[in-house]
Amino acid sequence: MTIAFKAALEDELTKLGFSPYKQLRRFVRKALRVQSPQEKFLEEHFKKPNQASWDKFQQVVQDPKFSREVKLHPASDEKLQRFIGSMNQMHNGNVVATVQGDSGKSYELKRMRGGRLGCTCNDWRFKRSHQNQRKEQDCKHIKKHLEAARAHRSSGVS
Ligand SMILES: [Zn+2]
Repeated sequence: MTIAFKAALEDELTKLGFSPYKQLRRFVRKALRVQSPQEKFLEEHFKKPNQASWDKFQQVVQDPKFSREVKLHPASDEKLQRFIGSMNQMHNGNVVATVQGDSGKSYELKRMRGGRLGCTCNDWRFKRSHQNQRKEQDCKHIKKHLEAARAHRSSGVS
């Protein structure tokens, strides 16, 4: 099989929700009874996800080993993988601004890969971080920050 053909085939299979690599790896690991702590956690989590396990998910998600494991897990989908990717970037990213929310609580904005911003608020974490559509990706804090930056630029001497 040529590499291009193999890649195209894998693409098609992935679109159909079938990943031979994932399944093969899972099979081998099961047969050998190899299970990393991350894999064990995911196994339990996907079996019966509940509030407590999602809270724990939030913590472990910052571990790169864990994100690798999520990518390979058959129960994870693209949305979840985008969520994990964002959480990782938020964990490692540099703070570009701190904004005050309506409640007086302050949130940190961080620069993500590709230039987009991330926020530490719950709206961003749970609803925005995994969005694919550009216009769905920003929470109100990010929007406010970008607007202020735009206003600042346009008021400057040109
Ligand atoms: Zn926010």
